[in-house]
Amino acid sequence: MRLLTANNASVRDQNLKVILNLIRSQGEISRAELSRQTGLSRSTVSELTGFMLRQGIIEEAGIGDSRGGRRPILLKIRAKGRLIGAIHVDDDGSLHGRTEDLAGNKFQTGIAEVHEPQELISVICRLLHDITDGDMHRLASVALALPGIISADGGILSAVNLGWNNLPVAVPLKQKLGIPVKAENATGLAAYGEMSARESDVHNLVYLRIGTVVGSGVITNNQLHHGLRGSAAEVGHMVLDTSGKYCKCGRRGCFETKVSRRAALGLLREQSPGDDSFSLNPGNVFEYLTEEDELGNSVAQNVLTDIATSTATAIVNVLNILGPDTVVIESALCESKTFWSVLTRTTAQEALPFAEGKYEVLPSLLGKDAVILGAIAYATRSFYEHNAISTVGL
Ligand SMILES: [Zn+2]
Repeated sequence: MRLLTANNASVRDQNLKVILNLIRSQGEISRAELSRQTGLSRSTVSELTGFMLRQGIIEEAGIGDSRGGRRPILLKIRAKGRLIGAIHVDDDGSLHGRTEDLAGNKFQTGIAEVHEPQELISVICRLLHDITDGDMHRLASVALALPGIISADGGILSAVNLGWNNLPVAVPLKQKLGIPVKAENATGLAAYGEMSARESDVHNLVYLRIGTVVGSGVITNNQLHHGLRGSAAEVGHMVLDTSGKYCKCGRRGCFETKVSRRAALGLLREQSPGDDSFSLNPGNVFEYLTEEDELGNSVAQNVLTDIATSTATAIVNVLNILGPDTVVIESALCESKTFWSVLTRTTAQEALPFAEGKYEVLPSLLGKDAVILGAIAYATRSFYEHNAISTVGL
């Protein structure tokens, strides 16, 4: 890529980002090679790398091989330098934290609990203190994965399970820490995590988590899709049957009422009335169905077929509206051969043909770690692309 050398802040930020990502992707690289690959002058590269050395973002990695002249000094991301932080506030009040260095290596993890909304900021700060080994100045950027509907400035507008409303989170934390702090809905960040884990050609992704409830996140052109006041991506409440069972949202026949763990239990009881020889509950029904599928139990396979067909209908609706390149499913049901084959076959049969390209329906790569790893990926991008570098004058 040929870059401009004009002396203004946005071009400088752009150049910094490109150089940092090049150092990151190459592992170790000399200033001369950076200059050659970016088209920037040697003096510009020296100025920018000097800034990053002073900031503790990169460090010298030794002497490289000569290409005719003096042997060059190699640069690399400073593994023991700045840290990226992620905190997941779950909807039962438990917190999980993780820090990584800028080269993507895990530094620390930790847990905490919050009982009252007014404690949240101090609990997050204590957890960040723990997972930076007491040195919060090493933090370069933090992302918060929060429950419920999240405002544009990173507050909780409504988290039903916790009973929290209109709670500012990112803004007060940013004021305390003095670094970029982003907050997003946790399932949205899980979607971001699944996209980041696949890197390469995934830019438009829909993530569905099917469990006690249906959670979903949408990525459009590498960006989290929020919609009006963070209300987008409620795929679980897409109505599939207006005369279906009542949903907790007040409507009838939502996708969630057809595929959740509780729905699976209901379907199983409808299929085998009077059979109460097994102690099933929402917590183990998906696992039971998956095991029985393996054993060839036709009742379990009928229930799995029902759930897979409803899931395929929801996916086809999403495909036809959003046209994602990838749909990721996170669920214990993905282990079931019947569920997965009915799901993929029915989706392929029902989806409208696309003019170009092909979508993929894939099981989750990250499982339950998708939220926290997605938050790390989001905070890392925030660091590279936005404030962390650009707010400091050169
Ligand atoms: Zn609903």
